[in-house]
Amino acid sequence: MFCCLSPFPNATLNTRDLQVMRVFADIAAHEIGQEVAAAEARARQQAVLRQVIEHRQFSPRYQPIHTLRPAGVVGFEALCRFTPEPYRSPDKWFNAAHEAGIGVELELAVMREALGALTQLPERCFISVNASPPVILGGTLLAEFAGLPLHRLVLEVTEHAPVADYDALRDALAPIRAVGMRLAIDDVGAGYSSMQHILQLRPDIIKLDMGLVRDVDTDPAKRALAAALCFFGQETGAQIVAEGIETLAECQALEALGVCKGQGYLLGRPMELAAAVRCLASPPP
Ligand code: C2E
Ligand code: MG
Ligand code: MG
Repeated sequence: MFCCLSPFPNATLNTRDLQVMRVFADIAAHEIGQEVAAAEARARQQAVLRQVIEHRQFSPRYQPIHTLRPAGVVGFEALCRFTPEPYRSPDKWFNAAHEAGIGVELELAVMREALGALTQLPERCFISVNASPPVILGGTLLAEFAGLPLHRLVLEVTEHAPVADYDALRDALAPIRAVGMRLAIDDVGAGYSSMQHILQLRPDIIKLDMGLVRDVDTDPAKRALAAALCFFGQETGAQIVAEGIETLAECQALEALGVCKGQGYLLGRPMELAAAVRCLASPPP
């Protein structure tokens, strides 16, 4: 109900005043309608995502990470695939879950599933899992990782937006880094915020974004930036891992710059765990 009240009668009020009231009522109704529609959409999205979590409508894939020279698989990045149709890439699922307020829950459920592979892979192999800052800030990772061989675990911080409070993020990471887990910053070179992440968090591993890797063999500007990050890595004791290597020329150019490890379609696509175990036995491509 939209109304206008006064303790005194006003005899001058006429239909024009009523029209003005109706305009205000329409504006208020429009605003409220938008809020109601957004809340309904959020509730619908939450229900879909709860189903995804409860019915495990996702499964991990493992993309091999190679040393470039000598070539060989040393670990795998766990990348999630969601089964509901139509297909949506994992980052879209995680963004939708964060918008619906259950992003942390979904990321943790997916991570638990991925970490199951640690017992199936040989001791010499590590697993790299992705985590957004809200998951890290949630403070539950140390408990999640209890009993796992943390020296075989890499946590990739995936965040393209600026981080508001690096002190809080460093504090949340400190106890898990102290017990041997390595920290990687994902997609470095993809934007300004990734530079802040490497300065503020001092990772053990810097993952070169595939935008920088693409055509690094022919693009002098990309080569210069990749070389600068390799120098940063040397100076700060961080390893450089290149993502999204698709051609031999890119791989050779990166290796010449001092990149020690890489992953990408040239070296192996994300695959099911059984195929990942098999690929350890086959010679490097
Ligand atoms: P990311 O962590 O940077 O993962 C690399 C993405 O590049 C993956 O896409 C991978 O399949 C793709 N890729 C690998 N090699 C190549 C290549 O040679 N060429 C091209 N064009 N692409 C390549 P994917 O699997 O679609 O994942 C997209 C993003 O979604 C990931 O980016 C990560 O941010 C997020 N994500 C995926 N799985 C998980 C997960 O389990 N947890 C969380 N929190 N995030 C995840
Ligand atoms: Mg990643
Ligand atoms: Mg990446």
